[in-house]
Amino acid sequence: MNHEAPKRIVVIGAGIVGASLAYHLASKGAKVTVVEAGGIASGVTGTSFAWINASCAGMDPIAALRGGAIAAWRRLETQVPGLAVRWHGALSYGTQDGRVSPSCTVIDRIRIAQLEPQLRQPPEQALHEPEQGALDAVAATHALLAAARALGATIRMQTPVPGFTVQDARVTGVETAAGVIEADMVVLAAGTGTAKLAAQLGVDLPIHASPAIFLRYQAPPGLVRGIISSHAMEVRQDEDGAMLAAEDYLDDTLENQPAAMAQRVASVIRNELEGADAIAPEFACIGLRPMPVDGVPVIGYLPQVEGAYVCAMHPGVLLAAIAGQLASGEIVDGEPAPALEACRPARFLA
Ligand SMILES: Cc1cc2nc3c(=O)[nH]c(=O)nc-3n(C[C@H](O)[C@H](O)[C@H](O)COP(=O)(O)OP(=O)(O)OC[C@H]3O[C@@H](n4cnc5c(N)ncnc54)[C@H](O)[C@@H]3O)c2cc1C
Repeated sequence: MNHEAPKRIVVIGAGIVGASLAYHLASKGAKVTVVEAGGIASGVTGTSFAWINASCAGMDPIAALRGGAIAAWRRLETQVPGLAVRWHGALSYGTQDGRVSPSCTVIDRIRIAQLEPQLRQPPEQALHEPEQGALDAVAATHALLAAARALGATIRMQTPVPGFTVQDARVTGVETAAGVIEADMVVLAAGTGTAKLAAQLGVDLPIHASPAIFLRYQAPPGLVRGIISSHAMEVRQDEDGAMLAAEDYLDDTLENQPAAMAQRVASVIRNELEGADAIAPEFACIGLRPMPVDGVPVIGYLPQVEGAYVCAMHPGVLLAAIAGQLASGEIVDGEPAPALEACRPARFLA
């Protein structure tokens, strides 16, 4: 396995993970080219709830990675022009998912009503995680790529990668309709497209497309101050009023299609929040999350072939900053990151 600092690195995918990688690799002096089949953030990043939520239920094989996720976003905010996370905290109640984080506290009804005054019926108790936040994932992806470009990276949109050039079991470049882009290292950050690309290099990565429902509403500003995650709804609101919600995908029956769910969730929001009568569904869709079969990110060198590194994960918005930081250290500086040990692609080889 080659751990020498490569000069020319091609990143496949311009979602939030590929953008973070491109920025971190370029900031370490690599000559980076990002190659994207569609437009910037045209994959699942474009329809993400984008909650920076580092808490986890039960045993966590990536505790060290998750533990560094918030600090990594805070660092990027100081480095990348235009990148802003809203650190407004999150309230959870009635979800019974047993999530824990070091900074969470149980708060009572009075405090809940202070934090979210529009809640019609604040619960007796809620879990408050003040260190959490959310970002505009599309804007963050643009900001990271602009910062990468300022460091010399090239971004090629509308450029699908159908395959690779390989010599002596070593990847030497990526194929595109405009010709081969030669590379010392290729990074697969292609979301749900990652497994197909890895298969081209002879490695089966069990990364599935896991559906979730993304909903956006027009709403009067000021209804929700942070994130509310309850048995009834998972919502947050941007400064301009746009309210975002995420729901589990149930099935493909008519009543569970995104448009129908948007109406149903709107009724729930109106019931839960004072002043929400005017909210109107604006956009609803199914987003496909890159979900490794064991739920653990896939980050590291692809086995059996030289010159290829994989970065595919959920929750990708939470982890994009820390994954970009650690993966770029491995690729450019040859510094193995112990926090990535549980994530190695080789775990799927029998
Ligand atoms: C409703 C919903 C809510 C979510 N909420 C959260 C949340 O609160 N917090 C969180 O952390 N995560 C959340 N997620 C998940 C998160 O959005 C994803 O984990 C993250 O966006 C994945 O980013 P990515 O860059 O890996 O993938 P993508 O954004 O899909 O980017 C991959 C890119 O690769 C490109 N590509 C694929 N194949 C090729 C190819 N052969 N050639 C060239 N380009 C290619 C695609 O066009 C795409 O643009 C949510 C997802 C959904 C749907």
